[in-house]
Amino acid sequence: MKMASAAAAPLLLLLALAATAGAVTFDAINAVPDSAGGQRFDRDYGGVEYAKQVLSEASSFIWTTFNQSNPEDRVGYDSVTLTVVDNLQPGAVAVTIGNAIALRAQSVAETNGDAAAVKEGVNGVLYHEATHVWQWGLQDYTAHWGIFEGIADYVRLKAGLPAGNWGQPGEGKQWDEGYAVTAYFLDYCESLKSGFVAELNGKLKDGYNDEYFVQILGKTADQLWSDYKAKYSQG
Ligand SMILES: [Zn+2]
Repeated sequence: MKMASAAAAPLLLLLALAATAGAVTFDAINAVPDSAGGQRFDRDYGGVEYAKQVLSEASSFIWTTFNQSNPEDRVGYDSVTLTVVDNLQPGAVAVTIGNAIALRAQSVAETNGDAAAVKEGVNGVLYHEATHVWQWGLQDYTAHWGIFEGIADYVRLKAGLPAGNWGQPGEGKQWDEGYAVTAYFLDYCESLKSGFVAELNGKLKDGYNDEYFVQILGKTADQLWSDYKAKYSQG
């Protein structure tokens, strides 16, 4: 029995490691709890515990949107961390680098409305930023930032968390101008073929290529944009 239990210890350790493989840890830190935004983050938003829960829910939503039920298909981070800070550049609500999301406390402080408005606004930002954590292809972000910002706002749109200042579907000058304009265009592409955005994201692993639209939908992005604009000009 003694030998058996001695042998069982490393086996149990192995089983414990296997159980955590693929699991992702979600963390949140309020680095400026005494600032107006930090106080509102704790009081109106729900603080770090609620933020961790939202990051977890957002990540699951993103993996579903990207059709990544198999963890091996996902970007391989084992943690996501949100930090509420007061030193982001003015105008930036949040910045994501790798698996680290920084949220500007002043943006929380300046949110119009009650606690529900703060929750909805911050949650929309977190769904957008968490998409940056999990989307493929960011090696091409500088050259093709519009597609990546469009996918991040597409996720926000599908989660039912569009920002109040977004325009309407059909607006915009070109498909890749990013954010809500591209998000609504991607939603149109998704309406042509369910799973379009998931397939596009998967292809982006190899970097951006104009051909992806042709490969998935049989038309160039510019052709699709013309179709999209024509649809909305007809009212
Ligand atoms: Zn973004």
